[in-house]
Amino acid sequence: MRISAGIHRIGDGLVNSYLLEDSGEITIVDAGAPGYWNDLPFELAAMNRTLEDVRALVLTHAHIDHVGFAERLRRERHVPVSVHELDAKMARGEAKPQNQKILGVGLVALLGFVRFALSKGMLRATPILEVATFGDGATLDVPGAPRVIHVPGHSEGSAALHIPARNALFVGDAFATLNVISGKTGPQLAPFGSDLPRAKESLLRLQGIEAAYVLPGHGLPWTRGLGEAIRLVREERAPGDSRRP
Ligand SMILES: [Zn+2]
Ligand SMILES: [Zn+2]
Repeated sequence: MRISAGIHRIGDGLVNSYLLEDSGEITIVDAGAPGYWNDLPFELAAMNRTLEDVRALVLTHAHIDHVGFAERLRRERHVPVSVHELDAKMARGEAKPQNQKILGVGLVALLGFVRFALSKGMLRATPILEVATFGDGATLDVPGAPRVIHVPGHSEGSAALHIPARNALFVGDAFATLNVISGKTGPQLAPFGSDLPRAKESLLRLQGIEAAYVLPGHGLPWTRGLGEAIRLVREERAPGDSRRP
């Protein structure tokens, strides 16, 4: 579905993959679940584009629900995939996610997420055999020219991507507007984070960025100001208070 000028989304907001258009060429930001592969041509068609126009896939981090169809896109369409250097091992399947904490588990919502994972083939991450890496502060040479802001905590190599020309910031799971497990909405730390205090601290690195559209990996776009979102996330209960009930 269309989010804003030049930006579309695959998925209904539970697990997001974004298509970013610039001068007729497409960068995909996160690849959601493997099953999104089937939705990709239709969403590209809605932008008057085809698979031929896809130039790059950039991952905000290497968790299973963002890697999705990445390897298939690389192998079948020769589209380069890139990720922050500290998540590269996880993307290649050489390292597992570290010390994951689940926030606010609700059984019904958890079953909903499991059902989604099953229906979209999200059972295990397919390693990406070749992955390019980037570091903090880089401006990527792909359509949309995303600027990288390293926001470690959710994973070591979590990155936000700022697209000044589209007035947009992809935050990955630096924060979410939907807890896929509990169903709670609004800006909040995402579940399955590795180091929650650090994730909160990293949000300060996003402070001051101008973006009308703040686009998370999970949940709906946030259009009420990045500063307000950061304030809401940082005012949440301390991570130690929000363990599995
Ligand atoms: Zn994640
Ligand atoms: Zn995620």
